[in-house]
Amino acid sequence: MAVGVLALQGSFNEHIAALRRLGVKGVEIRKPEQLQSVRALIIPGGESTTMAKLAEYHNLFPALREFVKMGKPVWGTCAGLIFLANKASGQKTGGQELIGGLNCTVHRNFFGSQIQSFEAELSVPEIVTKEGGSPTFRGVFIRAPGILEVGPEVQVLAEVPVPYRKPAKSDPADGNLEENAGSEKKVIVAVKQGNLLATAFHPELTADTRWHSYFLKMVDELSQEASSSTLEDDPT
Ligand code: GLN
Repeated sequence: MAVGVLALQGSFNEHIAALRRLGVKGVEIRKPEQLQSVRALIIPGGESTTMAKLAEYHNLFPALREFVKMGKPVWGTCAGLIFLANKASGQKTGGQELIGGLNCTVHRNFFGSQIQSFEAELSVPEIVTKEGGSPTFRGVFIRAPGILEVGPEVQVLAEVPVPYRKPAKSDPADGNLEENAGSEKKVIVAVKQGNLLATAFHPELTADTRWHSYFLKMVDELSQEASSSTLEDDPT
């Protein structure tokens, strides 16, 4: 069965292309009923307020929440991570609707505005162990969120040093970036929690398909678990 990619806005085409490179069909999801025909979902990067408004317009929130609750695999990248978080803080968060399920607090635009977007080499032992290849990943951070707090069930996959910049004056909730400058402090940028995977950066904008391949393995493992528990439940 195909993998769905939420196609309301943002980098959904790039995710579909990355899946295609791995021989998997990516299906654009715009309506609640389309979620029934996919076994997993990717929520792309983009602009989470706009994406939330479009999701509300298309009445997608109940079906998306149900998909997460059923234990189906979901991967959120950047705005997709914000969408999956239980709580979002930071600039222009006011009243923004989230799917939730991922037990963490994300800070929107943690690294600053568009001109503070950056690329960094990330060390992600979990993925290198499972996927092999070079020891680091190119992380593309575009107005990226940072993950400030995680629950005990959340596995941290990657962190980056907190960069120096002045907190935005307009935003009293802007992270304590100035305070952290020059410290050893790091911010979490990739996590896994059961059926949920989330990255603050954009693997779909690089030629490295290891994150997609890792997610697809997660999908296979979870569907095997689901089918073996169905067999156990079946009295025949
Ligand atoms: N800053 C964006 C937001 O808050 C996310 C950026 C991205 O997805 N590249 O929605």
